[in-house]
Amino acid sequence: MSSRKKLIAGNWKMNKTSSDGVSLVAELVATIGKQSEVEVVVCPPFTALESAAKALDGSTLKLGAQNMHFEASGAFTGEVSAPMLRALFATHVILGHSERRALFGETDALVNKKVLAALKNQLRPILCVGETLAEREAGSTLSVVQTQLEAGLEGVGKDQAASMVIAYEPVWAIGTGKVATTEQAQEVHAFIRGLLTKHFTDVVAQKIRILYGGSMKPANAPELLAQKDIDGGPIGGASLEARSFVELVKAAAAVAVL
Ligand code: PEP
Repeated sequence: MSSRKKLIAGNWKMNKTSSDGVSLVAELVATIGKQSEVEVVVCPPFTALESAAKALDGSTLKLGAQNMHFEASGAFTGEVSAPMLRALFATHVILGHSERRALFGETDALVNKKVLAALKNQLRPILCVGETLAEREAGSTLSVVQTQLEAGLEGVGKDQAASMVIAYEPVWAIGTGKVATTEQAQEVHAFIRGLLTKHFTDVVAQKIRILYGGSMKPANAPELLAQKDIDGGPIGGASLEARSFVELVKAAAAVAVL
């Protein structure tokens, strides 16, 4: 049984106004705001971060952002920096999500700059990697994941690595209702753990949470979360309603106490 605490992170994407976000966080705080078996992070859009921070204050829930710029400040119209997120008490930031890569042209090199900037500012990066359907069908899943992971981690020191969270998110499973089989997911997670071992050391690799993302729902979560190297999940669609998100947190807690 792994000593890694499961992590469930709700990625709201471009959903919820500030007041909608407060209502959702209030429901989460009322039901799971005191549990500490699972690390729970909510990642609202930038406009809802401050109100969400206030609504979750005093609970065990943590706050994350969905993106950030790598510079601390300056002439970067429309961007938000790590110190700005820290000032709102954010602890996590999702980086390199496949939607950012595909729709906003984020490259591995850019994602890497963001990872380094997040770590420098004591934000835990949730570094997303994953293959497209065409890449899986071409048999290049592991090489795609390796390239994204190694590039994303360039320059990350052994002493910083335990703060990292890696999210394996097959692009074909995100928001599609198609979920990777437990075997497909565990195979890639074990491969990532192996790469982290080579890159950092076994001791460090055993501390790093590797999340599975892609249509995780209360019905499929227990089996996925029971896999040896699956330490939680970034949750898109199912994080937008308290009921399904809470059920996922409970599924993670049930595995944690087995
Ligand atoms: C995601 O976008 O990170 C994600 C996992 O989305 P969904 O749960 O909707 O597939």
